[in-house]
Amino acid sequence: MFDSLSDRLTGALKDLRGKGKLSDADIDRTAREIRLALLEADVSLPVVRGFIAGIKQRAKGAEVSGALNPAQQVVKIVNEELIEILGGETRRVQFAKKPPTIIMLAGLQGAGKTTLAGKLGNWLKQQGHTPLLVACDLQRPGAVSQLQIVGERAGVPVFAPHPGTGIGGENLPAENGWVPLGVSSGDPVAVARAGIDEAVAQHYDVVVIDTAGRLGIDEELMRQAADIREATNPDEVLFVVDAMIGQDAVSTAESFQAGVGFTGVVLTKLDGDARGGAALSVRQVTGRPIMFASSGEKLEDFDVFHPDRMASRILGMGDVLSLIEQAEQHWDQQQAEEAAAKITQGELTLEDFLEQMLMIRKMGPIGNILGMLPGAGQMKDALAQVDDKQLDRVQAIIRGMTPAERENPKIINASRRLRIANGSGVTVSEVNQLVDRFFEARKMMAQMSGRMGFGPAGRRNA
Ligand code: GDP
Repeated sequence: MFDSLSDRLTGALKDLRGKGKLSDADIDRTAREIRLALLEADVSLPVVRGFIAGIKQRAKGAEVSGALNPAQQVVKIVNEELIEILGGETRRVQFAKKPPTIIMLAGLQGAGKTTLAGKLGNWLKQQGHTPLLVACDLQRPGAVSQLQIVGERAGVPVFAPHPGTGIGGENLPAENGWVPLGVSSGDPVAVARAGIDEAVAQHYDVVVIDTAGRLGIDEELMRQAADIREATNPDEVLFVVDAMIGQDAVSTAESFQAGVGFTGVVLTKLDGDARGGAALSVRQVTGRPIMFASSGEKLEDFDVFHPDRMASRILGMGDVLSLIEQAEQHWDQQQAEEAAAKITQGELTLEDFLEQMLMIRKMGPIGNILGMLPGAGQMKDALAQVDDKQLDRVQAIIRGMTPAERENPKIINASRRLRIANGSGVTVSEVNQLVDRFFEARKMMAQMSGRMGFGPAGRRNA
């Protein structure tokens, strides 16, 4: 996502570097390149026009600032305009003064609503809320049980009509203790209402309503979503849109805006190879902010959308703030300090190594983590090679070792290597490689920390 846009934009801006003064022609040429980059990324034409006009006007009128050279000034302007296009300030969820807060999800079938319900539930729980997910997608076969599965994964309860009750059919007692009395499983409005009543009775403070989508826009879909909105009066209606559908995202958003109305946008599938135009157009065209972004199928592939951080990533300036936040969530400071002390002493064990690796991996796929570093755009090819499966194998090998072997890898002789390889389903040469590299790395890290004056070696050298 955004890779080629990012390449093109940084390329266009790089040409300005080293120029003491920018002529109008320089600015026009750069603006032309930025325009092409945006169009290629599938950003809608009116949005591109507005963006370019803003940049030209500001760049030509820019005062020469003492701190920035002209090229940096243009980068600063492009960055600010990108932030503006992406929505300016980060838009947070508006929680109701009197709980429960009601969040309704709407969008086309396959946009990722049900998956999002689980992610949102998980996120809300992390923020200290007690969410309840309500299954009102009663059309897509399997949608209710899919919501139950994501709810279970997130550890968030799901309110759903019992499977098997038809329109007007009698209601059987639901599993998990849910008994939506008097609710026909074919009536999403009634299920939504019953879900909210349940939340009030059981003191859940947020209700997330999953609704049905269709493959395309149609009247029936709009009417049903509008009926649910009318009946539940949600605090937030989130329009969920697949970033991969490109320009169609804009027209779908416009139709939903007219038919149902929404307060915010959630972009999904940002992990795909979409060109990013949807992200850059939807907010501008509908006037509604992007509130969340989803970038994978796992619960944790989800975050609040920060326009400034996204702009910074697009311009190859990295997203160190998000990286720090993720690290803070998953980092165990004491464990990290203990490991650092052992590194300087040259005493790191494979057990420590495994713990550190697990801690880092909790932050998400390694490629994503590294991708947040400044300059990651230039390492794209290397990042694409990073394979989490290889890390899985390393983990499996270490797990196949006995505690004594992990504490003291020196005892891992040939017969132990064979046993470990067989136990963890890899070849002996993979075990050899891991053990050898571990020793090399341990030696190198101890030397480096010594040279930098941190460890005992440093003190000896001093
Ligand atoms: P719904 O019909 O709107 O409820 O869509 P679903 O939640 O069932 O999602 C449709 C498909 O997209 C499923 O296979 C999801 O696993 C997948 N999906 C949802 N969000 C993402 C995402 O951010 N990235 C990727 N790669 N897949 C996603």
